[in-house]
Amino acid sequence: MALTITIPRPDDWHVHLREGEMLDAVIGYTSLRFRYAMVMPNLSTPIATTDQAITYRKLIDQATPAESPDFHPLMTLYCSSQLEAIDLLHGYKEGIVKAVKYYPAGATTNSKSGGSSMMDFAHIFTTMQDAGIPLLVHAESTNPAIDIYDREAAFLEHELDIVCNNFPEMKVTVEHISTSAGVDFVNAHETVGASVTPHHLSRNRSDMISPAFHADLFCKPVINSESDRRILVQTVTSGSPSFFLGTDSAPHPTKAKYGKEAKAGIFNAAYGLEVVAEIFATENKLENLAAFTSENGAAFYGYTPAEEHLVLTREQVEIEVATHLSTESGNEVVLFGAEEASHWTIQASID
Ligand SMILES: [Zn+2]
Repeated sequence: MALTITIPRPDDWHVHLREGEMLDAVIGYTSLRFRYAMVMPNLSTPIATTDQAITYRKLIDQATPAESPDFHPLMTLYCSSQLEAIDLLHGYKEGIVKAVKYYPAGATTNSKSGGSSMMDFAHIFTTMQDAGIPLLVHAESTNPAIDIYDREAAFLEHELDIVCNNFPEMKVTVEHISTSAGVDFVNAHETVGASVTPHHLSRNRSDMISPAFHADLFCKPVINSESDRRILVQTVTSGSPSFFLGTDSAPHPTKAKYGKEAKAGIFNAAYGLEVVAEIFATENKLENLAAFTSENGAAFYGYTPAEEHLVLTREQVEIEVATHLSTESGNEVVLFGAEEASHWTIQASID
């Protein structure tokens, strides 16, 4: 018998929608499947003001396919020297800005405007704690002396822990946790939650570099060890309320991924849900899938789960699925998770 599970329409608490022809090419994958999408602000010109967020939001709305059932992009501002507390507070009160994203300078795509020390932004965090504005953190040390697989743990210990101690009431999301250290950090702090990606749940670092380097699995923070992956899987499949789905879908054209310097980022808006469903099915924990994809994140950010539902079915036969998308000018992007997607169908439930 085919395996079937019904879940409230999921939310994506971490997504890169890009701009220009890439936005046009990828937006439908998110808007046709997800309800809320926490939109990352690291465009080539970072989104750091309420006006910029309004403009970006309009571009997203214009690009969104009309048949998208119930899609709401949630805008974030980039924590940089351009960010002003007064403007942030204004944007938040107007309902335009939902959160602030902190990037360590140089950690990933378009992060050069980021910070070198989190506490340099203490004046912003004071406003955020008082107003209840969530802080979203790319937690990865950029210290070249630290081994790349230890950089999440190092950042949590040397940067974020200090912020959380100084601002104990501030709502903080550790984005795309990749290690057991990330899980431990979240569990040790009451006001801290974490997004977890389909790729960190389903692949390990051996998959990335053995038998050869797979640029398609290169992302930041890098996919870590099998033991870290196991702990992530156990944590999210347990239904623990502090952990929720953020795909970190981050499209790059293959010519940039496969170039001399591979771009960090994995496009998984298309099949991230299938990848996650496959993990929960393998672990015999499908009953906790909705908590991870549709309930925990909503509760963390102060929303109720979607009323609409999706029906996910694991099919007996393999289905043929697309492996790439093409932008208008012919750039190709690899769709992560085609293997898992070939086993699942997902449809809106007709109640
Ligand atoms: Zn990201």
